[in-house]
Order: sequence, then structure tokens, then C-alpha cells
Amino acid sequence: MEETETLKVRIKMPDGRSWIPKFVQSIDQEKCIGCGRCFKVCGRDVLQLAGLDEEGALIPLDADSDGDDEYEKKVMTIIGQTNCVGCEACMKICPKKCYTHEAMAEVLSP
Ligand code: SF4
Ligand code: SF4
Repeated sequence: MEETETLKVRIKMPDGRSWIPKFVQSIDQEKCIGCGRCFKVCGRDVLQLAGLDEEGALIPLDADSDGDDEYEKKVMTIIGQTNCVGCEACMKICPKKCYTHEAMAEVLSP
């Protein structure tokens, strides 16, 4: 059987340093306070603020939306995961440590 090697996808920066992008996987909506900070730093149409109602259903909202009786709390959601470029700006600005990111694996055949 052929052996394969798994590597993390790595990018070479203009200054010669290497960087491993880590792509958004999930947001912990239990911890999220719906502050919208992550939405403001992401320019890739990955995120969408939503209202979470009593039954756990999500209602899409504008980032500037005020409180509304139709939902219990505001939470951030992922609507365009494949647009993510792995910069982790959302994770760095999140005050509640809601984010999980992962590097993309590349499988190399011998
Ligand atoms: S890692 Fe970057 S591109 Fe991806 S969701 Fe976060 S801020 Fe947006
Ligand atoms: S920055 Fe964190 S707490 Fe604020 S909306 Fe985004 S995921 Fe939720």
C-alpha cells in the first residue's frame, strides 16, 4: 500500500516568512454575545448576524439592528464558509473566544 504524507497548506509571504492560513470552522453560539466585532473585521462575506429565538431558529439580521422582541439573543453565524481566506481576524477580535479555525490539509502522494 502506498504511503501518503499530510501537510498543512503553507503560504510564502513577500518577506520570505511562511504562513499557514487557518479557516473558520464554527462559532460557539452559547458564548457569543452578538457584539458584531467579528463581522466588522471580515471583508469576505463569511459572517451574518442572526437572532436566535426560543426554539433555536435563526433569523438573519443587519449588523446594526437594534433589539427586537422576536428573538432571545443575537449571535453570529457562518453563511459563506468557502469565502474565508484564513486570516483569523475574527478570532483575534472576538472577546468571548467563540471561534474555531483549522488549517487546510494537503495530502501528498509519494
Ligand atoms: S478568518 Fe478572516 S476571512 Fe475567515 S471568517 Fe475570519 S475574518 Fe473572515
Ligand atoms: S466577536 Fe465573538 S462575541 Fe462578538 S459577535 Fe463575533 S463571535 Fe460573537
